[in-house]
Amino acid sequence: MGRIKILPEEIASKIAAGEVIQRPESVVKELIENSIDAGAKNITVILKDAGKALVQVIDDGCGMSEDDAVIAFERHATSKIETYEDLENIRTLGFRGEALASIAAVAQVEMKTRTQEDELATLVKIEGGKIIEISKTSHPIGTSIAVKNLFFNTPARRNFLKSNYTEFKHAYEAFIRFAIAYPEISFELISDDELISKFEATDFETRIKQIFGDEFFKTLIPVDEKTEYVSIYGFISKPEFSRKTKADQFIFLNRRYIINRSINHAVYNAYEHLIDKGNFPSFILMILIDPRHVDINVHPSKLEVKFDDEQGIYNFVRAVVKHSLSKFNLIPEIEIEP
Ligand code: ADP
Ligand code: MG
Repeated sequence: MGRIKILPEEIASKIAAGEVIQRPESVVKELIENSIDAGAKNITVILKDAGKALVQVIDDGCGMSEDDAVIAFERHATSKIETYEDLENIRTLGFRGEALASIAAVAQVEMKTRTQEDELATLVKIEGGKIIEISKTSHPIGTSIAVKNLFFNTPARRNFLKSNYTEFKHAYEAFIRFAIAYPEISFELISDDELISKFEATDFETRIKQIFGDEFFKTLIPVDEKTEYVSIYGFISKPEFSRKTKADQFIFLNRRYIINRSINHAVYNAYEHLIDKGNFPSFILMILIDPRHVDINVHPSKLEVKFDDEQGIYNFVRAVVKHSLSKFNLIPEIEIEP
């Protein structure tokens, strides 16, 4: 008798879910991504108990037909890619077809969704990966997904969650990142019945002011440069407003929030000699590049990406930040590197 056994689907899916869904923040992130991919103009996020009891995301995007609404919860179910080649040219935030399946495996989910063609919306209830109801209901065009009692069936995970203060902070940060990257979408966040944020649809600069306030905005200088390969726009802090913490540092690649040490380092390097050691600049940098030049499928969270020309990006970011600092007469003019 061999000792190796194939895990039952129920256990396998809980393990897989753990890769994508770590805490309420992950649910907020995945659901907002889906709403943006669905073309939503208005997105509302509702939290109860810092998302532990409820994360609900309501959008006015394209919605789903009844067939799609059911299949959407299957693992690897996606409308965003069809072939392996599509992976090289991702223009949506999602593409792995894992989020809804993962969320449904570890929570109690209620989805209402309606397309423009349909009179009635479809209601799908699914708990621990099992569909318990499919019915018709009335609902505006768009989708509302309510995720209740996250990790109700994985107590170890549930116990691992931090205080409401900490979990809320994470969820809020995820929300804010989308608000920064998508100023043309209006965003609203309600937590325990209190309106926390409401950002009307606007342009990028105004959105930054909406989020961070006019006072903070005055400490920033703009960045805006492009080559054939890559373009960067955004804001960086004036050197005198550098701080002891690495606060308010954001890098977006094709409007996706990413973590990239190399780009951070390129920015710090550009500020060298302008700020004291142990102080850090703030920055909000939007990098746009042909998706064929990046691999975002490095990790399920898609927070890390690989550029085909890491050194080129590093040099460009450093040059652009230096150039912006010099343009604002903060340092002597420096030739921008090709
Ligand atoms: P992915 O986003 O990687 O495709 P998900 O599991 O997040 O995978 O979603 C599965 C599919 O369900 C999506 O490809 C999309 O077709 C559909 N979907 C999910 N959320 C929404 C939404 N808010 N509006 C419309 N369609 C959605
Ligand atoms: Mg998705």
